[in-house]
Amino acid sequence: MQLRCFDSKCAATLDLHGGALACPRCGELLELALNSTPLNPAALKELWSERRRSRDPRDISGVWRYREVLPEYAAEEIVTLGEGNTPLVRGHRSAQWAGVGDLQFKHLGWNPTGCFKDLGMTVGMTEARHAGAKVVACASTGNTAASMAAYAARAGVVGRVYLPAGQVSLNKLAQALDFGAEVVEVVGSFDDALNTLLESTGEGIYFLNSINPFRIEGQKTTMYELLDQLAWQSPDYLVVPGGNLGNSAAFGKAFDEMLRLGLIGRAPKMIVVQAAGANPFAQLWESGAAELTAVAEPETVATAIRIGNPRSWKKSLRGVQQTGGQVLDVTDEEIAEAKAIIGRDGIGCEPASAATLAGIRKLRRAGKIAEGASSVAILTGHVLKDTNFIIRTHQRQEAHA
Ligand SMILES: [Zn+2]
Repeated sequence: MQLRCFDSKCAATLDLHGGALACPRCGELLELALNSTPLNPAALKELWSERRRSRDPRDISGVWRYREVLPEYAAEEIVTLGEGNTPLVRGHRSAQWAGVGDLQFKHLGWNPTGCFKDLGMTVGMTEARHAGAKVVACASTGNTAASMAAYAARAGVVGRVYLPAGQVSLNKLAQALDFGAEVVEVVGSFDDALNTLLESTGEGIYFLNSINPFRIEGQKTTMYELLDQLAWQSPDYLVVPGGNLGNSAAFGKAFDEMLRLGLIGRAPKMIVVQAAGANPFAQLWESGAAELTAVAEPETVATAIRIGNPRSWKKSLRGVQQTGGQVLDVTDEEIAEAKAIIGRDGIGCEPASAATLAGIRKLRRAGKIAEGASSVAILTGHVLKDTNFIIRTHQRQEAHA
């Protein structure tokens, strides 16, 4: 694999393990380029299927099982908690509520720290240790902090997290503390926390933020696992919550690769759903503007996607455009209602995840999704990630009863 500038006009290439997060020539984000694999598509599918019977920790991981499409490391270098392997769960009440016939949830909240972040962190942390990092750092709305703290503990390096003070769910903060991270609280928003992080420098610090291209590689394996579960037949739609847009960026990259490798004949249309109070990407999509305008003071109950200036928007946009998808936003009320329905399916999720179901209903009502279409919605976080939200919602309902 090769580390290169995301801007195809620049196309600068860099040292794979140099730790760069931006192109030194033009400042654009970087990505790992997969040019080929040693096996043909049928042989890859067979190999990945066979590995489900193996006891090798790399094969047990739902990320490293697909290591032919990841950067290469020695077996003993890999930092894993057995991430991935999340099931597809059919949402019967949810489908009825949204007015669609065929809806499944891919619940990434059923990962080791209760969030999809683990899928990227296993690769990011492996690379950090490979590069000789002593301290790893990230800014976070909470989930990344919890995940990075856990994987740093596994790797035996110091984890340092920058959080917006008073804006992080206590459940997520508790996780970071339990895993032994150093917590730095920053007055302001997530975007302020990220800026503070980027200004901090020091010997041996490795940045594990959402723009880290190795994290994107881990997250992209979600789509390999999903298509593997679906016998390599794409659903009509893949629906993803949109905050910093790292996930949709990763998924778009996965579809591009899988098509080029001949693993699938058609990709699902990727739909990104933002919260109305933190919707710079939806605004960009609506207006057709060439550049993203940040939302200065993002506000939504879905704290995991309360991000005003998503760094990965160009990568995400490429995926949405290449798959013929779209971007939209939904209100906090719609998110809360959808979340309660997902709970009534016995599944549960954190508020940001429920934006997917709210988005499907909105598109269905607008006639933009056919009733018979098949959809897979990505749930990103576990129901226990924000228990305060649930208690408050139910107390309000009781007060009104
Ligand atoms: Zn460049």
